[in-house]
Amino acid sequence: MDPRNIAPVEHRITLCDRERRNAHLGGVLWLTGLSGAGKSTLAFALEERLFRDGVQVYVLDGDNVRYGLNADLGFSRKDRGENIRRAGEVAALFAYAGFLCIAAFISPYRADRAAARDAAPGRFHEVYVRADLATCEQRDPKGLYRKARAGEIANFTAVDDVYEPPEKPSLVIDTTKSDVECCVTQLVDYVTTSFRLEGGPV
Ligand code: ADP
Repeated sequence: MDPRNIAPVEHRITLCDRERRNAHLGGVLWLTGLSGAGKSTLAFALEERLFRDGVQVYVLDGDNVRYGLNADLGFSRKDRGENIRRAGEVAALFAYAGFLCIAAFISPYRADRAAARDAAPGRFHEVYVRADLATCEQRDPKGLYRKARAGEIANFTAVDDVYEPPEKPSLVIDTTKSDVECCVTQLVDYVTTSFRLEGGPV
């Protein structure tokens, strides 16, 4: 692709117009954490709650995206990077469409999350969904740790691949200390302050 042959085109409807109509800001709430930490559980519970409250909200979930947009990618370092690059770009498109996009991806590497942040500057909120490996392994909701330990899955995060925790997350949700309902309340509180339009409700 020759970049000299492409040029950005301006929208006539601005993000500000969309935000005024929605009565909340657009942005990305990026949930990162180990497999089994609770990202999907919290993402869908939060989506349900916010939707009921009138928020334009949509979950981009790692597993779902791997069935479609990223069906051609595996779990090598390079493919994981591309997985998150595409997810970050799609999440940014949702944000610029005025949505509150909840993105639930293990996203183990800091550099990949930084690239996702760069796709939506000023509108990216990193949430560390924290649970220690022993707890995640005990939960093992999809049986993946058992398979990883049996050598049936390679490059499994925190088993035979690294997880780089966020250094300065906007929010930490510790799912070993609070139940699902309490975690969702913490997320709703964060959204209420961080996605508020000046003078308006979320
Ligand atoms: P992830 O998307 O991070 O891989 P999942 O949401 O698929 O994790 O699985 C998390 C598991 O942990 C579920 O079985 C869920 O019921 C359980 N769980 C226990 N406590 C919590 C909590 N406070 N928040 C989220 N999930 C929890």
